[in-house]
Amino acid sequence: MSTVSIRKTAGDDYAGILAAVRRAVEDLGGLGDIIKPGMKVLVKPNLVAVPATRLSGAVTRWEVAGAVAQLAREAGASPIIAESAAAGVNTRAVIEKCEYDRLRDLGFAVVDLKQTPRRKIAAKGAKLIASMDSWELVAEAEAVISVPVLKTHDQTEVTLGLKNLKGLIEDEQKKIFHAQGVMNGVIDIVSTLRPVLTVIDGTYGQEGLGPIFGDTVRMDLILASKDVVAADAVGSAVMGYQPEDCMLSLEANRRGLGEISLAKIEVKGESIASVARRFKRASEVEIEGLPPHRLLFDEGACTGCRNTVISSLMDLKSQGHTSYLEGKILVAGPLRELPPESTPENTVLIGKCANHLKDRGRAVRGCPPGNVYVVQGIVGDALEVGRRYNAD
Ligand code: SF4
Repeated sequence: MSTVSIRKTAGDDYAGILAAVRRAVEDLGGLGDIIKPGMKVLVKPNLVAVPATRLSGAVTRWEVAGAVAQLAREAGASPIIAESAAAGVNTRAVIEKCEYDRLRDLGFAVVDLKQTPRRKIAAKGAKLIASMDSWELVAEAEAVISVPVLKTHDQTEVTLGLKNLKGLIEDEQKKIFHAQGVMNGVIDIVSTLRPVLTVIDGTYGQEGLGPIFGDTVRMDLILASKDVVAADAVGSAVMGYQPEDCMLSLEANRRGLGEISLAKIEVKGESIASVARRFKRASEVEIEGLPPHRLLFDEGACTGCRNTVISSLMDLKSQGHTSYLEGKILVAGPLRELPPESTPENTVLIGKCANHLKDRGRAVRGCPPGNVYVVQGIVGDALEVGRRYNAD
């Protein structure tokens, strides 16, 4: 049976957070079975983009990454804290803003992967990729520890231990994932580099338009598991989701990478019910500054398409092309009838479930489609799209 520990922090400083991480790892039986003396251990925080503040819930705070590295060091291993920020984002700027230099002062290596030698890693059990475009440091690591943040995501409902590993591929491959299907791409990475431990920074999380633009939620929690799928299942339950509604967890479980059923996961420390708080979903947030348009989500439209539409609108906004949205009707799910004001020019049919109406609008293929194709469906041929697909 998989085990997940939930522990409250004993203070918001490094000592209090280290104590909570230590306690959580003890709940799992320690590191002896997964970390051996002399091992090269890659500690992977989430440093997706330069956040508004380091405690906005968008990034892993240095205290949690440092606590994990400290425990690996105590186990006799050589930990390296390494990350590549989102496509197009300067990782060093994120490291600086998030004060990861404090970890260098404590004697830990903190590495911007984008500045290190590259290496391909042959994919194992993959559906989308033959190999990961990665780095020597990742290829040479003997164990990977995923250290994500507790937050929602505008395309995949939540981003936790599974999604965090997307930072272990180069920018170009990240962009391809967003065009071809982020779900299978991420799970291919997990299948190839299965983390031995996941420690979720739940001190400050993010709800709504995560992974970067969401609202900060203070939770004062640390979650840990040696099963990344179980860690994500419990993490999503703490945020008020059914784990099975989170597409990455579901696919990872289908591929045999870990446990998703809460009934089959032992939770130690705090119970889920005692700490749970419903996080606002990305699909419940109104994006300001958009011209009049309609979203027609059939009740059969699943979260994959709903979140892809919201995520694509965020992309459109960040690209400064919202004017193309004026008067558009965006349809997702197996809708039977279109409203009378729908025309082939103003209607965008998103995902395979809506494609049966393809003669009555612009059909965007995929299940769910990649953001780039949804944006293309909205702007038509007027623009070269795909300039920013860099969320984590
Ligand atoms: S196209 Fe796929 S993701 Fe979209 S609503 Fe249909 S089944 Fe769900």
